[in-house]
Amino acid sequence: MDESGLISSQTLSEIISEVVGKYVVESEFVLEGEYSIPVEISRRHIHLTRAALDILYGKNYQLTKVRDISQPGEFASEEKVIIISPKMKIIEGVRIVGPLREYTQVELAMTDAFLLGLDSIPTRLSGDIAGSQPITLVGPKGSLTLTEGAIRAARHVHMTPQDAEKYKVKNGDRVKVETEGKNGVIFKDVIVRVSDKSKLAFHIDTDEANAANIKGPVFSRILY
Ligand SMILES: [Zn+2]
Repeated sequence: MDESGLISSQTLSEIISEVVGKYVVESEFVLEGEYSIPVEISRRHIHLTRAALDILYGKNYQLTKVRDISQPGEFASEEKVIIISPKMKIIEGVRIVGPLREYTQVELAMTDAFLLGLDSIPTRLSGDIAGSQPITLVGPKGSLTLTEGAIRAARHVHMTPQDAEKYKVKNGDRVKVETEGKNGVIFKDVIVRVSDKSKLAFHIDTDEANAANIKGPVFSRILY
């Protein structure tokens, strides 16, 4: 204040920046940071073992890569299968995602599961298929009935150990992730998957993407 009792503009700006600075530190809304994690949508797809591909497409058949997807090394193949539920409901054109794996697994959104009459499909991380839903796969060379293998993929965030340090999370953590935009959604129980072979991405299925009104490239952030 000067002698006239008025606050000089210099002092006023100092006061403002002090108050705002305090707010910035204390407010949970600004602590969350930028929307920096790309959102990627997984359409229904299937992973196969060598033995399963032998049955469906023929002995030693090699998948044809259409494009690289998501995580390093993974690719969408040209080859697709038909899936048939025990209730005789069918979905055609389910894409095989390569490379071949140690397990055969069908990843469906809830809407797909309803279409197939699979009313108790479990939500699981990839590879965790024990006790999941039965499903039959049909390819051009044969068919294969799985006693288990149909799951709804649990929403998850892939990141490197460096990302994990930056976001202050660790492998297996369950976090809340918010998508940007006017109709953004806060997803609970998002599982953090840390690997040095990962690329930073928040993976959701088509139903979840529709709920969040996601049409083009969108980013998300972890809420703390
Ligand atoms: Zn993923």
